[in-house]
Amino acid sequence: MRFSFHTIIIPDYPDPGEYLLYNTRSQAMVKINHELKDLIDHFDSAEYFRLRFQYADDVIGLHKMGILAHDETEDFTRLKAHMGQIKYSVNTDCCFATILTTYACNFKCVYCFEESSRVNEKMSMETADHTMDWLKAKVLKLGYRRLYLNFYGGEPLLNKPVLEYIAASMQEWCKNRSMEFKFMMQTNGYLMTPQLVDRYLELGLDQVRISVDGVGEDHDKHRPLRGGGSTFEVIMNNITASCVKLPVGISVSFDKGDVRHIEKLFAYCKDKGILHKLGRFIFSPIHATLGAKGETEKIQNSHCMCNYEDDALVQANRRIRELMVHYGLEMKSGMSTSVCPVTRNEAGVTVDQQGRIFKCNSMLGHPELSTGHVRDNDYNRQHQTFIHLDVYNQCPQDCTYMPMCSGGCRLSSFLKNRNFRTPTCHKPYLNKMAPEIIKQEYQSRFNKKGARLFFESGGDL
Ligand code: SF4
Ligand code: SF4
Repeated sequence: MRFSFHTIIIPDYPDPGEYLLYNTRSQAMVKINHELKDLIDHFDSAEYFRLRFQYADDVIGLHKMGILAHDETEDFTRLKAHMGQIKYSVNTDCCFATILTTYACNFKCVYCFEESSRVNEKMSMETADHTMDWLKAKVLKLGYRRLYLNFYGGEPLLNKPVLEYIAASMQEWCKNRSMEFKFMMQTNGYLMTPQLVDRYLELGLDQVRISVDGVGEDHDKHRPLRGGGSTFEVIMNNITASCVKLPVGISVSFDKGDVRHIEKLFAYCKDKGILHKLGRFIFSPIHATLGAKGETEKIQNSHCMCNYEDDALVQANRRIRELMVHYGLEMKSGMSTSVCPVTRNEAGVTVDQQGRIFKCNSMLGHPELSTGHVRDNDYNRQHQTFIHLDVYNQCPQDCTYMPMCSGGCRLSSFLKNRNFRTPTCHKPYLNKMAPEIIKQEYQSRFNKKGARLFFESGGDL
């Protein structure tokens, strides 16, 4: 018996002499004492005969959780089953799809990944009908129990007729099947008046996500109106009026590891009395984007985050986490088994304004990367190419992070290497951040449940 390749061991935590263990495949988290750790490190040694008896139940429990494996072969067998499951499994609890009601936008954001291939084109009612037929067929074929749509753009509110038509029709269709229907919008917030929110709540609006890149000028210089002009005041007024009605998540970008605008934004929201009324904050480093339509390989912004990466990203993430703790905001752990959805057979999809299907929003505007069309029954060959990439086969098979990374983001691979097949490894980043994130996850699980979830000593599950 030995520690699994996928178990991260954090010494002297939560208390000196204790070890916090986390398995990246099973996501099990346990705390053990130094005696049990010592036993596992010398499991086959005759000197540890007595301890093997004393901790027999604990060892069985740790093995079931995936924290321990009998040997390398068992680890690899479990990993192979896990990778197969990720690729082909379907979570029938909820069908999630993003719909691009229009490619047009009333903003001209500095870092917009769609700008280079933007066309001023809205989804037609006919394409909306095809999109709904395709979604209904998918829901019925795979037996989903809920439907959750995400309206996206461009700016989705520049095509309200189609958004409202789809939301009302799918709400009715789901109601007739006793299925839950909800939707969210990713909007720049400029047109999202409180009156509109009231109307959309009736249609099933569940949450909105709005990009805010700082306070006042910090935001305006990155997200001006298309014809020029500030947007911050209007957006913040809409957010303030709406955040009491539904969760308003805030997406914030940062560049070169600089997060001073985030500090200012937190302080501003606190002063306004809305910080704790808002939904989740989501932080994203600015990254390079594909070139213009038909010139995918002419990468834009290749000087930015994804090419100078790990250290700046670690510093930025640490500072953001400190700020979240300081303001008492809930954090998502960041440790999960999510892998690039492009490589999964049935992950969420995005349907663009012409009805083309994409597996990654950052590939929008590049028809050659589309994986099908809502008028067709099946996905196309690009879909097969993506799911058979199996990039993780090129990684060291004993990599601790394999179950949650499986070779990294496919788009990053293309942006760096002009192909989708190369692993994009952020192991140095993960090595630095994983212990910190696991400790925070431990604190949050322990505080929430208030129960003894962990081994305190031998014989106590
Ligand atoms: S390619 Fe990268 S950005 Fe796109 S879905 Fe995969 S992980 Fe996300
Ligand atoms: S890309 Fe790096 S971190 Fe990810 S599985 Fe491969 S070796 Fe591990």
